[in-house]
Amino acid sequence: MDLIKIDDLEVFANHGVYAEENEKGQYFYVSIRIFADFKAAAEKDDLNKTVNYGEVCDFVCDFMTENTFKLIETAADGLAEEILFRFSGAREVFVEIKKPQAPVNHKFGCISVCTSRKWHRAFIALGSNLGNKAENIEYGLKLLKSEDSVKILKVSDFIETEPYGYKEQDKFLNGAAEIETTLEPTELLRLLKETEETCGREKTFRWGSRTLDLDIIFYDELITDSPELTIPHREMHLRDLVKIPLCQIAPDFVHTVLRKRICEL
Ligand code: ADP
Ligand code: MG
Repeated sequence: MDLIKIDDLEVFANHGVYAEENEKGQYFYVSIRIFADFKAAAEKDDLNKTVNYGEVCDFVCDFMTENTFKLIETAADGLAEEILFRFSGAREVFVEIKKPQAPVNHKFGCISVCTSRKWHRAFIALGSNLGNKAENIEYGLKLLKSEDSVKILKVSDFIETEPYGYKEQDKFLNGAAEIETTLEPTELLRLLKETEETCGREKTFRWGSRTLDLDIIFYDELITDSPELTIPHREMHLRDLVKIPLCQIAPDFVHTVLRKRICEL
């Protein structure tokens, strides 16, 4: 991965908790690190194939002056996220905002906040067994795609499967998708639940009928185990309805706990 660095970009803006800061304004200094792959740009000597740092500077200044936040934390988080959304080559962004004139009654060198955001890779299991199943899954994917924070990279074919757990219900249609997201795991889970709800899923019971079921199977190399969120998905290796579609789009992905490729599982 290559790196583009911008140090101490000067911006006069109005962020601060105190009304006086919002009215008078003060200087902020913004440093940015953008991890991107600019091999192709270097090879062709082509600006269009890299992240244009001039445009990043323009964007940072606009963002800092067009918004008024109480916290530089809010400004830093918003900047990191927006740079990822707007500059397609950016894979990971680090932001530092310095506030040398911060209203603190002590002598200090500088006060700053730092944050980073990146595109994470995740796999999502898709399922439906009520109404027009394919349409439900497509609609769910469309809703996810409309989010800035989600890119859908690959979608498997949908396969018909027998109900899992509770058998007295209609067959399921199942699939899998590979996505990129700037959301943290719990934020992604929340988005998936909201999407299920928008698609009309009513809470029944575990393994019961559902218009749309969206589960996180993998999220980067993350291994986490709590009732709210278990990654890798607890029973994925036992369920053909997850494994078969996943094998179609990511046969060589290595299960982070079982350390076996999906095609072997
Ligand atoms: P299931 O998907 O097991 O058939 P639900 O969709 O009703 O059942 O999910 C029940 C709960 O499982 C959710 O509220 C969620 O908090 C939790 N859960 C734990 N791990 C995951 C995961 N990897 N993906 C989605 N939900 C999960
Ligand atoms: Mg679920």
